[in-house]
Amino acid sequence: MNYSEIMVRYGELSTKGKNRRSFIMQLASNVKRTLADYPHVKVHAERDRMHLLLNGENSQEIIPKLQKVFGIQNFSPSIRVEKDIEVLKKAVQDVMAEIYTGVETFKITAKRSDHSFVQDSNQLNLTLGNAVIDRFPDIKVQMKKPDINLRVEIRIDGAYLSYETIQGAAGLPVGTSGKGMLMLSGGIDSPVAGYFAMKRGVEIEAVHFASPPYTSEQALQKAKDLTKKLAPYVGSIQFIEVPFTEIQEEIKNRVPQGYWMTITRRMMLRLTDAIREARHGLIILNGESLGQVASQTLHSMVAINEVTNTPIVRPVATMDKLEIIEVAEAIDTFELSVQPFEDCCTIFAPPQPKTRPRLDKVHQYEERLDIEGMMERAMAGLKLEAITANQEKAATEFAEFL
Ligand code: ATP
Ligand code: MG
Repeated sequence: MNYSEIMVRYGELSTKGKNRRSFIMQLASNVKRTLADYPHVKVHAERDRMHLLLNGENSQEIIPKLQKVFGIQNFSPSIRVEKDIEVLKKAVQDVMAEIYTGVETFKITAKRSDHSFVQDSNQLNLTLGNAVIDRFPDIKVQMKKPDINLRVEIRIDGAYLSYETIQGAAGLPVGTSGKGMLMLSGGIDSPVAGYFAMKRGVEIEAVHFASPPYTSEQALQKAKDLTKKLAPYVGSIQFIEVPFTEIQEEIKNRVPQGYWMTITRRMMLRLTDAIREARHGLIILNGESLGQVASQTLHSMVAINEVTNTPIVRPVATMDKLEIIEVAEAIDTFELSVQPFEDCCTIFAPPQPKTRPRLDKVHQYEERLDIEGMMERAMAGLKLEAITANQEKAATEFAEFL
């Protein structure tokens, strides 16, 4: 079907009162960015709906892209025709000819926002319904839950026909909630956490700790590939690689095994917080899930969290592993996540990490480390890369932003 327009219905933002305008503007700009490769598409954002005029661009390519834009409840591709009864009759017959397979029930739902049009909505329902029956005498009309609901909208600029409603990604437009730093490992949980954060409007930047040569080039690539899977929801995500080798070696050499994990996590959190500040983020996000492993007991969380007052949002904290996997499969990160590349935590994982680390011990062992110096060196070695949905790879720049 050659669609001329897509009519977009807003999600939750319809209820946002005063902020409504800024939500709609953000959504419009996100849609434009998502469809940047289709320069002829015109976006008209109105109070209640958004209209995308396709101007000949390929709707079959555009539809799946639109399904990844948060803030859209659903949308209907439609065909614009001249506002003329004869033209409309032929148009509904033509649409039916494409979709009717001989078994479905149907109805016409006409709506007239141009009140000067010759027929009102009831008359139109009848006229156009009869036109369909004339052409397909066996078709059955059904008012309640018909298989095909052919909507006809008479607007000032033309008549619009649509028959399908495609589910959108729901949520809030990304960017309406500020920026958060996502601690992204190569595992299953953190990409899912990033997806949920974006769904609630948070713009994310991915922070990844790499410890070469203990961690491989493939492990790093995997984290970037996961970021690429998240990028279509926003267009582009800043990927920040943090050099973590020195810190891990120092911890291993100076701290008793039972505290490796706690102190490693504290260092990660300190660094993520410093990066957040430099990048003007508001919060930190991670993929911790309660009780999953030793670092994720409540006692561990308290000991790790002690290094910052910055809010840490843990979108998957209360989900079961199987629930998280379900989402990972739906957003297509699962297969990448289960590729067996060691990340920095697995390699330095002590045989028996403390599940109830003591803060006095933590402080005592951290005295042995040059925390400030190590952080400075790690910050000086950050590598930034914008990972975009469309391009293969954007240029790598170094930490000039600090
Ligand atoms: P994931 O599946 O996200 O790797 P996990 O269940 O393996 O999580 P951990 O390895 O304990 O759990 O990590 C907990 C969280 O700490 C991760 O979800 C992630 O947010 C963060 N994290 C762990 N390793 C790294 C890393 N190398 N770089 C950035 N963040 C990390
Ligand atoms: Mg992990």
